[in-house]
Amino acid sequence: MSVVFSKVVNFLYPFGTCRICGNEIKAGFSGICFYCLKKIKKIREICCTTCGRTLPENLEEERVCGLCLKEPPPYKRHISSYYYEGAVRDLILQFKIGKRYQLAKLFGKAISKNVKEKYEGIDFDFVTYIPSPFLRRLLRGFCPAELIAMECSKKLKIPLKNILTFNKRVKPQKGLTQNQRKENLKNGFKCSYRFVKGTKILLIDDIFTTGTTLFESAKVITSAKGEVFAATFAQRKRREIEMIKESIED
Ligand SMILES: [Zn+2]
Ligand SMILES: [Zn+2]
Repeated sequence: MSVVFSKVVNFLYPFGTCRICGNEIKAGFSGICFYCLKKIKKIREICCTTCGRTLPENLEEERVCGLCLKEPPPYKRHISSYYYEGAVRDLILQFKIGKRYQLAKLFGKAISKNVKEKYEGIDFDFVTYIPSPFLRRLLRGFCPAELIAMECSKKLKIPLKNILTFNKRVKPQKGLTQNQRKENLKNGFKCSYRFVKGTKILLIDDIFTTGTTLFESAKVITSAKGEVFAATFAQRKRREIEMIKESIED
């Protein structure tokens, strides 16, 4: 390929190479080609109508799961587009650790599509997101959920508002067991926006792991009398959540 020709190609297709198959991307998103994108399996299983986790295989219709019945979450519902595994996990790590900011577009697009389908008819007042702890944000240089929420706000034409802040110093959730996570984040958030009462809020995050983050953040919004509908790009499978003992990336 001549230098001029490859320059023209790069100008026309400024996507770089696919993180999954390694081929030059001609169509798709920065970081993943259209072919690999189509191969990623969406969540199509029977899920809990509250927390969005998959229900046991022998159930035929959607309902509220046992966990949500036992301890009803402060949010109305949570939906996720993909499972956190394989290519999806790779993309999220590329985004958060490899700092490929452009991937926020892909995540935002997938979440928005899911929101349009599953939250049809809900008139959201604004989009918000799970903030990053101050030090993490400083080290990372960006807040992953904020970038994704910005894309959702654009796609769904709903204003973006940052309403959550940390109430205390929280440790990174990585490497903590489920109980430690709960303790770490307990009363960890506060709602810094005064006009939440009576609003419907779309709360965005990248991954849904044990659900503790979502639970604690939705709690403060709900006590300010706002309604929370959450959406994430990917979620851990239930059996993995139950197995969480040691290292976890998020
Ligand atoms: Zn590819
Ligand atoms: Zn549930």
